[in-house]
Amino acid sequence: MAHAVLQIDENTQQKVQHYYAADKVTRNAPGVIFAAKAAGTAITLYRSGKLLFQGANAESEAKKWGTVAIAPKKILTSKGDKLPTNFAQLAVLGSDETGTGDYFGPITVAAVYASPKEIAILQELGVKDSKMLTDNFMLEIAPAIRATCVHHVLILRNEKYNATQAKGFSQGKMKGLMHNQALKKVLEKLAPQKPEAILIDQFAERKTYYNYLAGRKDIVSDNVYFATKAEQLHISVAAASILARAAFLREMDALSKNAGVVIPKGANAKVDTVAAQILRHKGEAFLKSITKWHFANTDKAKAIAYKK
Ligand code: MN
Repeated sequence: MAHAVLQIDENTQQKVQHYYAADKVTRNAPGVIFAAKAAGTAITLYRSGKLLFQGANAESEAKKWGTVAIAPKKILTSKGDKLPTNFAQLAVLGSDETGTGDYFGPITVAAVYASPKEIAILQELGVKDSKMLTDNFMLEIAPAIRATCVHHVLILRNEKYNATQAKGFSQGKMKGLMHNQALKKVLEKLAPQKPEAILIDQFAERKTYYNYLAGRKDIVSDNVYFATKAEQLHISVAAASILARAAFLREMDALSKNAGVVIPKGANAKVDTVAAQILRHKGEAFLKSITKWHFANTDKAKAIAYKK
């Protein structure tokens, strides 16, 4: 299906809503302020000003409202193992991680078990793909997820991360070890009960993942499936993603208090600026203790901080 996306200003948003008023449809998706079906095309306007066209005439409809600047968005499809039928309804142990691309703060990994009983409660709570949820909403529902499901959350703080990285561990290997550990912990808590399947939100091919774990004992391998975008395949992974994110956000909050400045997420130029500021005021050892030191941001922050 063809896709086209525009970013439009408030004035154009008004015009769009007026133009398609007769074709208006109701769509209760997060962030949607207006939706219509016209000319074989689904038109969705988001609060952010994003205007999405999907369908046969997506491009020609979009052109009425502006230049299609953003590359057409591919439909997100999951890649990975073929899953058992009716997978979403099975009792599944899912795992996911966050913080891997952020210069500041830890990597967090969570594993969550959800049988049909918990699946219903998680749905009720509004658990879904974390990319569709705000940080605040995730922090809000995380306690209810923890109270509902057998789970385990691991936090790899920067000092240990940097020491492990210096020993030659890749980030992939650290993630692999953390996923395995989190899954193992939940299996222990569940025993003698067993999940019908385990689903890992895929960050590495199966072979690579098990290479990371080579030589370890207690490698979780029964009924393990790998898939990308696994949050959409079983709600246990969506819940795990939220718990990992909530743990990451709490840690970032604590780091901000500690550093005396609001610490930004990601690894962009803003991150370099704040890192440089911390470097000047608190020194290198302190900055190292709250960052993934091997990231390119370190050199950029030094260049900014020590610029004559
Ligand atoms: Mn993931």
